[in-house]
Amino acid sequence: MNILELFQTFQTQEQCLDYLEAIRWRGEPQCPYCDSKKVCRHASNDRANQRWQCQDCHKAFAVTVGTIFHRTHKPLQQWFLVLALMLNAKKSVSSHQISRDLGIRQPTVWSMMHRARVAMAVDQKAQELLYGIVETDDAFIGGKPKKPNKKSDRKGKRGRGTEKTCVIGAVERGGKVKAQPVTELNSTSISEFLSKTVDTVGTMVMADQLPAYNKPLGAFDKSARIDHSTQYVDGMIHTNTIEGFWSLVKRAWYGTHHQYSVKLIGLYISESCFKYNHRKAHSLFDYFVARAVSI
Ligand SMILES: [Zn+2]
Repeated sequence: MNILELFQTFQTQEQCLDYLEAIRWRGEPQCPYCDSKKVCRHASNDRANQRWQCQDCHKAFAVTVGTIFHRTHKPLQQWFLVLALMLNAKKSVSSHQISRDLGIRQPTVWSMMHRARVAMAVDQKAQELLYGIVETDDAFIGGKPKKPNKKSDRKGKRGRGTEKTCVIGAVERGGKVKAQPVTELNSTSISEFLSKTVDTVGTMVMADQLPAYNKPLGAFDKSARIDHSTQYVDGMIHTNTIEGFWSLVKRAWYGTHHQYSVKLIGLYISESCFKYNHRKAHSLFDYFVARAVSI
């Protein structure tokens, strides 16, 4: 859905609520507190603020309870526009830009985008294990590189002597990607990441020659290494797919989010993963909202 279509479809709070109710309950309204289906609309003429009443636990609720839209004072139409601008941006978009586009205060936009990223992180955790041909690699993102003291500091020590955050990732060729920041890049952190993201049975894992990958790759049925000091592609052995993902992440980070705390890097990585993993979705907006109301 482009921005104009979205603006035309959701002109009132009532239209937005109808959409959320349809996508969350699929015709069977349910109490978010006790899961009872014995619920009815509150008698009220004000449809835009109308709430539901549970006949079992006697609580009143709106469709937004427990979702990223819960306890928000902003009209849902504004929420939908922020989300659409965020999801439509191929690379990424800053809260400052959306604030200028929509005339909403930047801190408000930032907190809406933050909630959206938390939902994207939950979506990433719910993805199945990667399998088939899987490429794994690491990247260093954020922060300014410190000047190395000695020439030896610069050699063969990825990311050392920098303030950057290390991110480990794995991508299934033709499929999905998973990535997360780690405090240190070593055999243990790589093993932990791969064991929860990649299926060990029948998977062929590819990585470059960094020694820290030696032990983690031993857990897989098949593995292959590419020596980047001599070549980048050896037939089907390469890590170009994950390198492509890193370039997306880096462009998003350096182009948009450089002013933000590196503490939040995990959430920004989740946004990049979400966009990559659902790049073929018919409507990313519908998919995202369906996820956002089910967490
Ligand atoms: Zn109830």
